[in-house]
Amino acid sequence: METKQFKAESKRLLEMMIHSIYTHKEIFLRELISNASDAIDKLYFKSLTDDKVGLGKDDFAIWITADKDSRTLKITDNGIGMTAEELENNLGTIANSGSLKFKTENKLEEDNQIIGQFGVGFYSAFMVAKKVTVISKAYGSDKAYRWESEGVDGYTITEDDKKNAGTEIILELIDDTDDEKYSDFLDTYRIKGLIRKYSDYIRFPIKMEVTHSRPKPQTDEEKEANKAPEYEEYIEIETLNSMVPLWKKNKSELKEEDYKHFYTEKFFDYNEPIRYAHVKNEGNANYNALLYIPSKAPFDFYSKEYEKGLQLYSNGVLIMDKCGDLLPDYFSFVKGLVDSEDLSLNISREMLQHDRQLKIIAKSIEKTISNELKKMLKNDREKYEEFWKAFGMQLKYGIYSDFGMNKEKLQDLLMFTSSKDKKLVTLDEYVTGMREEQKFIYYATGESVERIEQLPQTELVKDNGFEILYLTDNIDEFAVKSLMKYKDKDFKSVSADDLGLENTEKQEEIKAKEEENADLLKALAEALDGKVTKVILSQRLKSHPVCLTSEGEISLEMEKVLNAMPTDQKIKAQRVLEINPDHTIFEKLRAAQSASDSEKLGKYASLLYNQALLIEGMSIENPVEFSNMICELM
Ligand code: ADP
Repeated sequence: METKQFKAESKRLLEMMIHSIYTHKEIFLRELISNASDAIDKLYFKSLTDDKVGLGKDDFAIWITADKDSRTLKITDNGIGMTAEELENNLGTIANSGSLKFKTENKLEEDNQIIGQFGVGFYSAFMVAKKVTVISKAYGSDKAYRWESEGVDGYTITEDDKKNAGTEIILELIDDTDDEKYSDFLDTYRIKGLIRKYSDYIRFPIKMEVTHSRPKPQTDEEKEANKAPEYEEYIEIETLNSMVPLWKKNKSELKEEDYKHFYTEKFFDYNEPIRYAHVKNEGNANYNALLYIPSKAPFDFYSKEYEKGLQLYSNGVLIMDKCGDLLPDYFSFVKGLVDSEDLSLNISREMLQHDRQLKIIAKSIEKTISNELKKMLKNDREKYEEFWKAFGMQLKYGIYSDFGMNKEKLQDLLMFTSSKDKKLVTLDEYVTGMREEQKFIYYATGESVERIEQLPQTELVKDNGFEILYLTDNIDEFAVKSLMKYKDKDFKSVSADDLGLENTEKQEEIKAKEEENADLLKALAEALDGKVTKVILSQRLKSHPVCLTSEGEISLEMEKVLNAMPTDQKIKAQRVLEINPDHTIFEKLRAAQSASDSEKLGKYASLLYNQALLIEGMSIENPVEFSNMICELM
C-alpha cells in the first residue's frame, strides 16, 4: 500500500495542529461537525430537486459515537461524501481550506492565537488524534474509500465497503498525560458541553446514543420487602443541539460575545468586528440578518480581487455564499448574512438578480447600515474614526461614483482633517463652526496634512480665521467636486481665484499694480513658454514669494491623480503662477525688466516656476538645469 505525502503547506499546518496548546484543542469537534453539516447541506440541496437521493429533511443527521475501550471518537454524516479523488485533493492538501489564505498572510506567527479564534478545518482532528481515519462514499458513486493517516508522515487511501453515501471520521485519541486528558473528549457530558458551546446552531440534528441508568421495575414482593432497587442501563438517542441558528434566536438570549464569536468563526477575521447589528425585519420584507462592520480592511479590500456580498439563506438553507446584490458598493466592507423566507430555495443566480423581493431586502439593509454608521458616529466617536480610517475611502468613492447619485445618503458620514486642531471633523461640524461672514467651505489638497500646512495658498484663508479641510486622499477633491455644496455652502479650494474674502482696497491696489507691471507679467509668461496660462500678482500670498494655482475645472491635484491613471490621455490643468508683490523678489524682477535683461528675467521666471512646482509636491521637468541655475545665481 502506497503511503502518500502531504503537500508542504499542509504539512506545516499539520505540525502547527499537533503542537497547538491544549486549551485550544477542543475546537476540533466544531470543525468536524461544521464540515459534516456542509456536506449534508449539499446533499439536502440536491434532494430538493432529485428524488433519487431518497432522503427527506428529517433523515439527515450527524452522529457522534464515543468508545472508551478503543479510545475512539466517531463523527458520522449522511451528506454528499467524497470520491477517492476528493479525499486526495481535500484532505491531502489544504489548498481548499478557507483558512489557508489567512495563514500564509500571518506567517504562522501567532499560530496559537489563530487556532483559538477561528476555523482551521479538518486538520484540527490531529490536535487530539494520533490516528485519523476517514471513510467516505460520494453520493452517486458505487465505491467507497478509506483515508488513513497518523500525522505528518503521510496518508494512505484504500477501498472500503461502506454502503450508504456520507462520511465517517474516526479519531484515535492521543494518549493521556498528566496535564492533558484526551480521554475527556470521550465523556458524554464534555461532548454535550462542546456541542452546546460551538455547534448549537447547526441545522441538522447532532445525535448521540447516551447511556442512562434507571431502577429496574420491582415485583410486588420486592416492593413489600422494601428491597433497594437494582439499576439497569438503557440507551437513549439524544439530539444535542437546538438547531436554531444564531440569527433566528431572540436578541435577549444572546450576548455580545456570541455575536463576536460567530463573526470571527464565520468570516475568517481574527479581529473583532467594530460593530454589529442583528436585524429582524417584518413587513414589506421578511428577513433576519446579521451585519458586521470589520475593524480593519482586508488586505485585498481596495483591489479588484475583493468580492463584496452577504451570505444568503432561504429559510435557513444557504443558497449563496456571497450575494453581491445585497450591498451597494460603498458599503462593500460589510460582512454578514441574510435569511429570508420570501426567497425561493431553487432560485438561480440570474433570476435572483432580478428578484423584486431581493431588491426590497437590499434597500432595507442599506438603510440599516447607514443608520448604524450614523449611530456610531454620534455615540462612539472614537470607534467611528477607527472605522473611517479603514473604510472612509470607500464612502468617498461612493460620493463620486454613479454621477454623484448617492451623495445625499453619504455626505453626513464623511470626515476630513481640519486645519483647526488637525482632527477629523464632519461636514456638519465644519458648517456649524463657520463664522457668520464666511461664505465657503474651504479646502486644500496635498499628499499629507504636514505638506498642506506649508502650502502658501492656505495663508490668506487661515489669516482670516477660517477653518480649512485638508484633503489628503486622491479621491477627496473628486468627492468634494461631486458634492458641490453642503447645506447650501459651496466648497472652495484655497487655490481658487475668488475666495470670497473681499478686500476691495487690497484688490484695487493689486489691480493697479498689475496694470503698472503688465509688461513684466507678460514677459514672464512668455519666458515660461506655455507652461502657465498667465502670471499674476497674488492676493493670497503673505510671506511666500510664489505659488501655483489653476483656472477652470481641473485643479493641479486632480491633474496629478488623473495622470496617474493608466490612460494615454494626459490632462493638464491651466496653471497660473502667482507672484507676491510685497516680496523682495518682486523688486528684483522689476529691476531685471527695467534693465531690459531678458535673459535674467527668463531665468528668474524658470526658477520661480520650478519653486512653485516643488511647493505643490510636483516634479520639475529639468532638475539639473534648475540646480545649475541656483548655483549660477549664488
Ligand atoms: P474547509 O472546510 O475550510 O474547506 P477543511 O480542511 O475543513 O476546509 O475541509 C476541506 C474539504 O474537505 C472541504 O471543503 C470539503 O470539501 C471536504 N470535506 C471535509 N469534511 C467533509 C465531510 N464530512 N464530507 C464531505 N466532504 C468533506
